[in-house]
Order: sequence, then structure tokens, then C-alpha cells
Amino acid sequence: MRSGEGPAPNGVGAVVGRAGAVVNLTVHGIGPRPGRALDPGEDGTWVDVDRFERVLDAVAGRPEVRLTFDDGNASDLEIALPRLLARGLTAEFYVLAGRLGEPGRLTADGVRELAKSGMSIGSHGWAHRDWRRLTSAQVGEELVHAHRVLEDITGEPVTRVAVPFGSYDRHVLRRLQRAAVDRVYTSDGGPSRPDAWLQPRTSLRHDLDDAWIARVLAPPAPALRLRRTAARLVKRFRGR
Ligand SMILES: [Zn+2]
Repeated sequence: MRSGEGPAPNGVGAVVGRAGAVVNLTVHGIGPRPGRALDPGEDGTWVDVDRFERVLDAVAGRPEVRLTFDDGNASDLEIALPRLLARGLTAEFYVLAGRLGEPGRLTADGVRELAKSGMSIGSHGWAHRDWRRLTSAQVGEELVHAHRVLEDITGEPVTRVAVPFGSYDRHVLRRLQRAAVDRVYTSDGGPSRPDAWLQPRTSLRHDLDDAWIARVLAPPAPALRLRRTAARLVKRFRGR
């Protein structure tokens, strides 16, 4: 959670252009490539430190922009945390509970350190699986066991998830409702209502520049907004 769910300072809320809308950003890995093979698609979202700092500088003082981090990379602690704290920012970290302690990933101590520093911890599942294609044993691992492991580490309930690969359909959403999750982050892009159960996010890209930042943080054109809403509705009801 960012500090900014209360009233926005002077006119800041107006930047997004829709009363009360928020923009959720997703950060994956930052800085030098880790000592592990990257997962499919990860290369396109891994950002260098300079680009990451440019995003943080643009977000500072913008309480209507929220930062989330996926995958539990070691860079969450080593690179992101000190730079967030230096700017007075908080963020939500969506950790892969079954990957803790692997090369290039957060350890349990690292997760605890993030939580102690005022960051919130949520689940990105157990093993970075596509939640549309789980066996029943895997459902337990991804949506129950992963939460318990993270709760044991932080002492706090896990109430939010970030869907791996942004892959969901109505079955996934029904399972998440049953798991008593109170916020689900996707990767659908575009602004969100601040309290919605299902919230789109926009991922940082490896080649982002100032124009990208300005576009993502700017008010959406109405036509684009409608297209995104339509795409989300399709995903929400897909699945037999
Ligand atoms: Zn992920």
C-alpha cells in the first residue's frame, strides 16, 4: 500500500483526470541480471537502475500511483528498498513463496526486512505457474500454502495477490474469492478504481523512457479506456 489512499495533496488527484482513479505499476527485476535463468518474458521487463530511479522520481508525490513488485527478486531488497525509503515511498511486494532463498531471489529474512521497513507483502503464488492450468494439488500450493508460508514469515495475514503472468479466467477468480483474497492485481494495464477487487496494473518495460512514463501516468483517452474495459470483461468471463 502506498501512503496515499487518503486525500491527495493539492490537485495531485487531478493529474489522472478521473476522480479517484489510481495507476498501479508493476516492477519485476532491477539492475544486473540475477544468478539464475530468466523466466519467459522476464527479459522484457527487467529494468536498469537508472530507469527504475526515473520512475520512482516521477511517482514521488503522486499518491494516486501505486507501486507493486512481482516475483520476489533479490533486487526488491538490494536495489528497490533503499531507493523507496530515500523518497518516502512505500510499495507492495508480491512474492513467490516457493522460490524463497533460490539464487537471485529474496530469502525469508529479506521478506521480513521489507515488511519491517513498512512495505506490504502479498502472494504471487508458489512456483510461478499459470493459475488457469493448475491441478487440484497445485491449487492448494498456490492459493493456500503460499499464503501460510508468507504469513509465518511476516506475522501478518496475506489478503492480496498478484496473478502470475496476468493469466486469469472466471475459474481463477472464483478460487481467489473462495480463498478470501480481498484484492487481485492483474497485468491488464490502465487506471483502476482504488478499491476495486480486481485491479489492472502496468508493467515497467526494459526500454522505458520519459515518454513512456508520461504516457502511463497521464489520463487515458476515453476510446482506449473503453477498449481496455472490454478486454477485461472478456478475460473475466472466459473459461468453461
Ligand atoms: Zn511473475
